[in-house]
Amino acid sequence: MKPKVYITLPIEEEVETYIAKYCEICKWQGETPITRQELLKEISDIEGLYTAGFYINEELLDHAPNLKVVSNMSVGYNNFNLKEMKRRNVIGTHTPYVLNDTVADLTFGLMLATARRISELDSFVKAGSWERTKDDEPFFGLDVHNTTLGIIGMGRIGEVVAKRAKYGFNMDVQYYNRHQKPEVEQELHIKYSDLESLLATSDFVVLLTPLTDETYQLIGEKEFKLMKKTAIFINISRGQTVDEQALIQALQNKEIYGAGLDVFEQEPIEEDNPLLKMSNVVSVPHIGSATKKTWDAMSMRAAGNLVAGLTGNGSISQVPY
Ligand code: NAP
Repeated sequence: MKPKVYITLPIEEEVETYIAKYCEICKWQGETPITRQELLKEISDIEGLYTAGFYINEELLDHAPNLKVVSNMSVGYNNFNLKEMKRRNVIGTHTPYVLNDTVADLTFGLMLATARRISELDSFVKAGSWERTKDDEPFFGLDVHNTTLGIIGMGRIGEVVAKRAKYGFNMDVQYYNRHQKPEVEQELHIKYSDLESLLATSDFVVLLTPLTDETYQLIGEKEFKLMKKTAIFINISRGQTVDEQALIQALQNKEIYGAGLDVFEQEPIEEDNPLLKMSNVVSVPHIGSATKKTWDAMSMRAAGNLVAGLTGNGSISQVPY
């Protein structure tokens, strides 16, 4: 008998066909995204779960006593309670590598948009406010090329961002990471820095760590105060790696020049969040990996992980307990 799996997200026919070769599929058919309460009702006899973002905690695991594999269609697995999953022999998987370039593209998109004030000036032009002026000073922004980039979290995506910075924008790249990476330093001609020096000397600070107990609010009031007044802060990791109130204050007090944000403490962001009123903030709705090509690749990788975890067929990107 094929193992039963539940799919919470829309998937392409090709991906579904692949999973169906090995598994019996049940999937969410609702018009609106499945809620946690609805999910809990659907999983009493499943062995595999294909999803993104739902907290895999004691409550969910209690509702799915036969669960063996949770396949996250994302990179990062801060939604997994790994201790509890380990205790119950539930494997967690995710989809690294296939999205590196797409996330790195967005990182540069946010750096450029914030430094050159692209969103702000786009709204200005579209509002019909562009008139002839004596000079263009009101439109001045900051350069990205020939500046210093500090990357916090030099992992798979960090390395790809560093390459773009070095070879595309002639930037000096420094990084802070839990472990120093001499081979990456040699290959990309970048240098390791302690966190404080990186913050104090970078023109762009890009946060790319996973969200863990150690990185929760890694960047807060003290860290923003260390940054240059002209620094641009980019968060592409997870909203909770930053103390958002401290970020708001740093921007309001002009302690930094601007911020490009793909992720927020609360997603979707609250309508009255002060960040949404700031012209020096570029905000996008957690779209780091969101291109059709990359989502298809992630979706296929997540399907492969699900099948491999349940049947042993194919390769698996299992997250360490
Ligand atoms: P990765 O290869 O695991 O890289 C993460 C890096 O962060 C590793 O080099 C790791 O160091 C470092 N790190 C972990 N904890 C740290 C700490 N406490 N202090 C300093 N450095 C620390 O992951 P990735 O594929 O590059 O992805 C990074 C993160 O980006 C994901 O976890 C996810 O949260 C986020 N992401 C966001 C989007 C989006 O749509 N915005 C898309 C994809 C990923 P070690 O080498 O010591 O482990």
